Amino acid sequence: MGKGFFQVPTAINEPVKTYAPGTPEREEVLAAYKELYNSTVDIPLYINGEEIKTGDTATMSPPHEHQHILGTYHKAEQKHVQQAIDTALEARKKWANLSWEHRAAVFLKAAELIAGPYRSKINAATMLAQSKNIYQAEIDSACELVDFLRFNVEYMAQIYEDQPYSTSDAWNRVEYRPLEGFVYAITPFNFTAIAGNLPASAALMGNVAVWKPSDSQIYSAKVIVDVFKEAGVPDGVINVVYGDPVMITDTILASPDFAGIHFTGSTNVFKDIWAKIGANIHTYKTYPRIVGETGGKDFIIAHPTSNPKQVATAISRGAFEFQGQKCSAASRAYIPKSLWKEIEKFVKEDLKSFKMGSPEDMSNFITAVIHEGSFDKLAKYIDQAKADKDAEIVAGGGYDKSKGYFIEPTVILTDNPKYTTMCTELFGPVITIYLYDDAKWKETLELVDTTSEYGLTGAVFSGDRYAAEEATQALQNSAGNFYINDKPTGAVVGQQPFGGARASGTNDKAGSYLNLLRWVSPRLIKETFVSPVDYRYPFLGE
Ligand code: NAD
Repeated sequence: MGKGFFQVPTAINEPVKTYAPGTPEREEVLAAYKELYNSTVDIPLYINGEEIKTGDTATMSPPHEHQHILGTYHKAEQKHVQQAIDTALEARKKWANLSWEHRAAVFLKAAELIAGPYRSKINAATMLAQSKNIYQAEIDSACELVDFLRFNVEYMAQIYEDQPYSTSDAWNRVEYRPLEGFVYAITPFNFTAIAGNLPASAALMGNVAVWKPSDSQIYSAKVIVDVFKEAGVPDGVINVVYGDPVMITDTILASPDFAGIHFTGSTNVFKDIWAKIGANIHTYKTYPRIVGETGGKDFIIAHPTSNPKQVATAISRGAFEFQGQKCSAASRAYIPKSLWKEIEKFVKEDLKSFKMGSPEDMSNFITAVIHEGSFDKLAKYIDQAKADKDAEIVAGGGYDKSKGYFIEPTVILTDNPKYTTMCTELFGPVITIYLYDDAKWKETLELVDTTSEYGLTGAVFSGDRYAAEEATQALQNSAGNFYINDKPTGAVVGQQPFGGARASGTNDKAGSYLNLLRWVSPRLIKETFVSPVDYRYPFLGE
């Protein structure tokens, strides 16, 4: 701490721009998109502030146009990963001891750079790398990343202010030390904001990090690396490696200085990593913090008193925005038989009006899924539903990967509440609907709770307050983010802290002080002003 109790700027959510026709932001982002599309990049590793080209490269293409090359990235060998660890530990000596206001200033500057001069670039890169339409890019790579950076600074200040009670003869102080060692951040393809936040939140609290982005997000991750550099994150504090995830992870988990993992991605990968940490436990100098947000099988349940148009809109947006590739995307819905005809009509009307194609054409609501592996998996489930007797495709069902990985938004109807697509996370634009007898509300709540291993997000729609309360109670452990009369997606930092339990993760709530607490190891300092000079207590008296 410097010489003053400094107040951090009050965090506010970055306003979402509209990109409506004729707005300057629309022109700017389209120009940035064209410029990036028409050039190529060569993305090096970033270790100790140095750009390292290993020569072992892979190419990057937009999912909506897989024959177009955006550039290449360099893959790490084991020695580069070791170098990233060593350099982080060296940087820790200064960074962990830097006054907090300087750490805060670096990340507040990063937020302003993204909100301002880098906004169109990071949005355009996200449109190209992850095939997001401009609205999905804006709420992710611009606004959510800015919000994470701003709000985390405010939460850090709140944590530091939390101090124990002291007496007149002894002063108790807690200092929130960074972890002793380094933090490993592994990030998913689907949110540029999460990619930036996982290393940055740990670094803000004084930690150093090795960050491994998803292969499918490296193109937009590079913009974050540039922003952090320009914002003044010192060399070695955040080191970035790309390449074989197993080799990189094994190398990192073998280090005695591994102090924590900040992971977002799929459930099985996280469970494997947890098991490896367990197997290596005798290697570590400290018990590593394990923080992971993983998969979901997120639900919508409509009560017979719900409004059919509202339920249909929640399905159209909640299941299909960003092609259902949000961990929070609705992928199973429980609809009362009495309302289905109407809801079906509205959903089909919506789907008919969706346009699908490149995000460069801003009238497209649906773009491509992330890669061929995802496309093939989704096509297989769709074909299976076409063949199965207990499933019927009532909308969509088409797919085409000739130019990009396009899957039509698809609605499967099933009379088997445990049908495979009611239970398994597909991570694509597919929702499965189960119709229940109106009289079986209670039994259906039980079904929602017990059908999947996950517990991430869920929504109830009800015009009946008692039914809404009943669902809230019955589904207490079914979702970490529970919505009443709203779609289960679109959590905003500072408003709806995000995360779920069961197989969905450790529920450490990204975008809240709870997450930051995982990156500190508090030290209590008690200082006694007049120290005792006699060991005898009064009770020992004659
Ligand atoms: P993924 O698990 O395939 O990849 C995530 C990261 O792990 C990537 O960096 C990847 O390279 C790395 N990885 C892959 N295999 C690995 C291995 N064997 N060892 C170590 N690292 C490995 O996930 P994805 O496809 O990028 O993202 C989608 C998944 O993420 C979905 O399951 C989704 O639900 C989940 N997700 C969850 C949240 C949340 O907050 N709960 C948010 C976003 C995404």
